[in-house]
Amino acid sequence: MKQFQTVYLERDSFRAAVSEWQSYPAPVPALIHLFSDGADPADIASACAIIDELMPDAVYVGASASGCIFDGRVSTEKLVVTCLFFEKADSYAKACYFPCEGPDLSSFRLSLRETLQQIKDVKAIEVIATIDTIPILDVCKILQEEVPEGIPAWGGGAFGDNQFKAFLFNKGSELHFAGVMLTFICGSDIHVHYEYVSGWKPLGYPLKVTRAEGYVLYELDGLPAYQIYQHYLSIPNDEHIFYNALEFPFAVQHGNRKLLRHALSCDSQGALTMSTRIPEGSVLHVTYGDPETIMQDVNQCAQNIADFKPDVISVFDCFGRKTFWGGAEATREITPFHRIAPTYGFCTAGELIRWENDMDHHNLTLIIAGMREGNAKEGTVPVIRQEVKNNESTMTLINRLVNFINTATAEVMEANATLSLMAITDQLTKLYNRGEIQRRITERVEEKKSSPDGANATSIVMIDLDDFKHINDTYGHQEGDQVLMRISRLIHEATTKLGIDASDGRWGGEEFMLMLPGVKKEAAAAFAEEVRIAIEKLHFDKCGKVSASFGVAQAKPSEDADPLVVRADTALYKAKAAGKNIVCLAQEES
Ligand code: GH3
Ligand code: MG
Ligand code: MG
Repeated sequence: MKQFQTVYLERDSFRAAVSEWQSYPAPVPALIHLFSDGADPADIASACAIIDELMPDAVYVGASASGCIFDGRVSTEKLVVTCLFFEKADSYAKACYFPCEGPDLSSFRLSLRETLQQIKDVKAIEVIATIDTIPILDVCKILQEEVPEGIPAWGGGAFGDNQFKAFLFNKGSELHFAGVMLTFICGSDIHVHYEYVSGWKPLGYPLKVTRAEGYVLYELDGLPAYQIYQHYLSIPNDEHIFYNALEFPFAVQHGNRKLLRHALSCDSQGALTMSTRIPEGSVLHVTYGDPETIMQDVNQCAQNIADFKPDVISVFDCFGRKTFWGGAEATREITPFHRIAPTYGFCTAGELIRWENDMDHHNLTLIIAGMREGNAKEGTVPVIRQEVKNNESTMTLINRLVNFINTATAEVMEANATLSLMAITDQLTKLYNRGEIQRRITERVEEKKSSPDGANATSIVMIDLDDFKHINDTYGHQEGDQVLMRISRLIHEATTKLGIDASDGRWGGEEFMLMLPGVKKEAAAAFAEEVRIAIEKLHFDKCGKVSASFGVAQAKPSEDADPLVVRADTALYKAKAAGKNIVCLAQEES
């Protein structure tokens, strides 16, 4: 592959550039990209007319951008035109536009399917969409489902704002304002390696999305979403919130990937309008972007791309990153790649990437795709790392502080988890404590109350050690404790072995309670009998043998937890009265 690039300034100089391209001895038609950052539509039309005239077979695609990649820079040029020549006779590109205003995307799916059937040797698909005017997540889903596995796809959103609507076009078309442009890059010897870079890192606690609707994020952990920005980061809810929050976007867990989402605005109630839909129930983190860590990721990606030795590099760079870096400074993210191979692309409104069996919609992401015809050339491509020239020690300081926050947060979370566990655990036996086992019985009985049979059955087993006072009195309290611990372990191993999410707890001094979900009273009694025998078989150094009595009850329709427990207790009392060391079933009537 061979790339040429120019800027459209006026007809004559552009015509001269295209004439020169046209004389390049390529075996097949070229692929041309036209990216416009506020170019006059007449200039776009004129550029297309010149291409149509001088390179009539060339395939071309165009889109509105928020800055075009030109000469390895994030430029402010209005119209950047890049011409890509293939050098193998069976390589080719095909650009297809698909309108998909939605909500019904079935015709998009069908025409995509038909198109894919007609195109041979697809090695990559470049996706440019008007993200805000189409149901982008549904479109992504269809792309994922229809495009055969293993074909890389990447791209981004054409940029638009209040003044100019995002648009797309290809050869012979008008400007389109609601659809997807797919450029299929095909050929037997085309190779692609693509990656994406975020660079933003998680900060502090995970937060749960407790209320969200469409693009609006109402609540995190039950509080207005904006409070995160106010409480932890002192970001005021004013006209600068977009810029301030850009440094601290949210990372949403999606499968095993984290996707960045940033706030566009905030209303007076503290609801955040986000760049993309975040489903209710998602878990997210605030992230922070600092130049040093971002550049570390960029440099790593550059190394991987260099190892692939591409002929050209396609770049889709979120406009939010450009804003983060402060305009032209964003070039630092492109330079390392441009030193590897010529780059083309633009600053996008949202990025699209097929990754690990999903087509994801990202924000604040830099997508880099290296393409090559034929095998990688011999030798290594040196990577010139872009270092951050800001005050290095300040950056190190930020990283140390973030490390402090994240380490402290992790420690507090671990301590909280330990405390939560302690609050429900009996210290001596490590079984659930009385409060917890009682809560579990009540929860289960309430949930299955209407028809507590079959899988909805709930049985409980109450256990009381026999003549335990005697053990304490004769061999000492410590021996008593040893017996309690050993029997608890036996009970826990037996209930765990059932594999039914049963719960076991310490009910009182030498009393235990089991909750057996989905178990009827007969099976519960049989299980109790097994445990009884197992206890009987234990041998203790000092006190020798011990035994226990059991009361078993199954919840009746519409029975509350309390009477159920009373019936089990009564059954246990019966076992004691009958001479101990036996299992008794509760009476049906309470
Ligand atoms: P029964 O067969 O009728 O159940 O007789 P029992 O002796 O087991 O029953 P009782 O309720 O009279 O005695 C229970 C004893 O359990 C009394 C108490 O000292 C002892 N106990 C309660 N909690 C603990 C504990 O945590 N450790 C020890 N070692 N003993 C305890
Ligand atoms: Mg007792
Ligand atoms: Mg007892």
